[in-house]
Amino acid sequence: MQRIAVIGGGITGITSAYALAKRGYDVTVFEKHRYAAMETSFANGGQLSASNAEVWNHWPTVIKGLRWMLKNDAPLLVNPRPSWHKLSWFGEFMAAIPKYADNTIETTRLAIAAREHLFQWAKDEQIDFDLKQKGILHIYRDKAGYEHAAKVSKLLSKGGLERQPVTPEEMRAIEPTLAGSYYGGFFTESDATGDIHKFTHGLAKAAERHGVTLKYGHSVQDIGADQKHAWITANDSTDLGGEPVRETFDSVVVCAGVGSRALAAKLGDRVNIYPVKGYSITVQLDDAASQQAAPTVSLLDDETKLVTSRLGDERFRIAGTAEFNGYNRDIRDNRIRPLIRWVEECFPGVSTRRVVPWAGLRPMLPNMLPKVGPGKLPTVFYNTGHGHLGWTLSAITADMLADAVEDKNASTLQTNQPLT
Ligand SMILES: Cc1cc2nc3c(=O)[nH]c(=O)nc-3n(C[C@H](O)[C@H](O)[C@H](O)COP(=O)(O)OP(=O)(O)OC[C@H]3O[C@@H](n4cnc5c(N)ncnc54)[C@H](O)[C@@H]3O)c2cc1C
Repeated sequence: MQRIAVIGGGITGITSAYALAKRGYDVTVFEKHRYAAMETSFANGGQLSASNAEVWNHWPTVIKGLRWMLKNDAPLLVNPRPSWHKLSWFGEFMAAIPKYADNTIETTRLAIAAREHLFQWAKDEQIDFDLKQKGILHIYRDKAGYEHAAKVSKLLSKGGLERQPVTPEEMRAIEPTLAGSYYGGFFTESDATGDIHKFTHGLAKAAERHGVTLKYGHSVQDIGADQKHAWITANDSTDLGGEPVRETFDSVVVCAGVGSRALAAKLGDRVNIYPVKGYSITVQLDDAASQQAAPTVSLLDDETKLVTSRLGDERFRIAGTAEFNGYNRDIRDNRIRPLIRWVEECFPGVSTRRVVPWAGLRPMLPNMLPKVGPGKLPTVFYNTGHGHLGWTLSAITADMLADAVEDKNASTLQTNQPLT
């Protein structure tokens, strides 16, 4: 049986391991934390959102971004200190602008395809992850935002997504708890929400039942590969004073989130992922009044770039912000305050006495599409760089990755066939 190492126990690593194990591979996951999904897959916005498939490589978004850079509490923040990493990333981001429509359509298609895998896996493995299939409502306060969204809807529909325009009255009927005055909205009934951490944890347990070895507390220190093998040197954090151990595999799959770029460089590949920081708050709905006053339908406020999800009865998650500030995970008060203020304005009946803040780094490639498939060497694969949609796309990209591994093995078998 082929032995495959997966680096990373976030949503992409665990879905990859699960998909590969189901196809009969002997899989070992290396994860530096003691549990699955402790980094970016910990407390994200929760949306499984084909309706948020629009990529950001678009002139109006760039112009809006430049304006935001002058505002302190804007949804975008760029540390002006230049670095080669940041400059090269922005250069490639701009170069992808001509692919805006194609990449939006492709992301929509992938997001729709992902749903059936994810829901099926959750059902097969009986994973409770606070799934809510009540749709996502995009909300707009002005005509300009609404009209841009109408254009985006046309692209989404080319990718196969039905998104309905709704009037302010219809918005109120869809989500009666939402306060404020709006120009209009778009509703995607087929979208859903759920807790990424709970799902990843549940799928990791299922993967283990399918024979996957989960090496938690193992930080990969070095990695290498040639035409036939890949090798990994990892520290075991539970073995105090222990030496790093080197193991050899038939292939390796890099799913290390914002750590993937450095690992790829050691494997001879360029995977230009930038860590785009975002924040979330989880409002604890401790009293019945707050539970009544919080929405059950997921929202996306395009102006403030905030997304929400209701996780069970007692949690209301709000997430957003894009910060280009290197590998910095600090939770900044001036980024958290606007999220709390937004809740207080849109849902005045919700108590914000108990709010849990969080920050995570989106592993984002400049063209906003993930890298899925082989690297330069036949023993190296990637499933990484999912940016703002890693939860939404994870199940389909894991399946694509497993296809790529199978294809490579089939072609290797063919080239190794004795000539008759
Ligand atoms: C604020 C915010 C809101 C978001 N909202 C949504 C949303 O609503 N919907 C959506 O679809 N997506 C959303 N996302 C994006 C989504 O959360 C990410 O795309 C996804 O979690 C990335 O998963 P990952 O597996 O690539 O990375 P991670 O979850 O970070 O996993 C990578 C893992 O690799 C491990 N690792 C790295 N290097 C090593 C090493 N050398 N050795 C061992 N282990 C290593 C890390 O410890 C980590 O656990 C949001 C992101 C943020 C920040």
